[in-house]
Amino acid sequence: MSDRISGDAAPRIAMFGGTFDPVHLGHLRSAVELRECLALDRVHMLPAHVPPHREAPGVSAAERLAMLEAGIGDTPGLVADARELDRDGPSYSGETLASLRRDYGEQARLVMSVGMDAFLRLHEWREPQRLFELAHVVVIERPGHRGPLPAALARLVAGREAADAEALLRRPAGGVLHVRLPSRMAISATGLRTRLAAGRSVRYLLPEAVEDYVRSRNLYRSLEPSG
Ligand code: ATP
Repeated sequence: MSDRISGDAAPRIAMFGGTFDPVHLGHLRSAVELRECLALDRVHMLPAHVPPHREAPGVSAAERLAMLEAGIGDTPGLVADARELDRDGPSYSGETLASLRRDYGEQARLVMSVGMDAFLRLHEWREPQRLFELAHVVVIERPGHRGPLPAALARLVAGREAADAEALLRRPAGGVLHVRLPSRMAISATGLRTRLAAGRSVRYLLPEAVEDYVRSRNLYRSLEPSG
């Protein structure tokens, strides 16, 4: 897939946020499949700011970012993006999207990917209308997770649903698309932290480079809160 950032066509960019504590193959495979599904130029993977009292003990934001960078390696089109960590305090998605919009310009096709569980609460986010002025929302579905929408959410997304990726990306922002990615893996960061704390194997659940990083720094060895 070509990277058209420097060409004439409007760039197609996604924001893929998460805690990435640590990043694992479920995250990375989803990002790759999202890129292919929408023919995106870049998927920005953004580690979220985590309040210090909720951080995994002994694992810093800088280490979550370093693991993400190691996990991405030279994967085409995936970018480890520190902009939410560079701000003090929590980031609102609107701020992050506005920042990406400034970087890529008014014509860029900007997409915010969210899981179905997050989508079902989108109307409770800060300034949800503004999100649609800045970006499309792409909902990554999970089998068995398509219930009726809350009334406020149904009003928010009324008239925004696109039939497919090309229809969605005809405009810079404002649409909703539901996608089902082929390889949702039964891997969670919570499960990985538990395994690491218990000294069990995490081989083939995260990239080797991330496992090497975790081992070299002795991360996730204790799940006791740091107080
Ligand atoms: P935790 O177990 O700590 O809650 P997590 O593994 O769910 O973490 P997050 O960093 O919170 O990871 O997730 C970032 C994004 O990746 C979310 O949108 C989440 O739905 C998605 N995601 C998490 N695990 C998987 C997976 N196994 N396959 C595909 N997507 C995933």
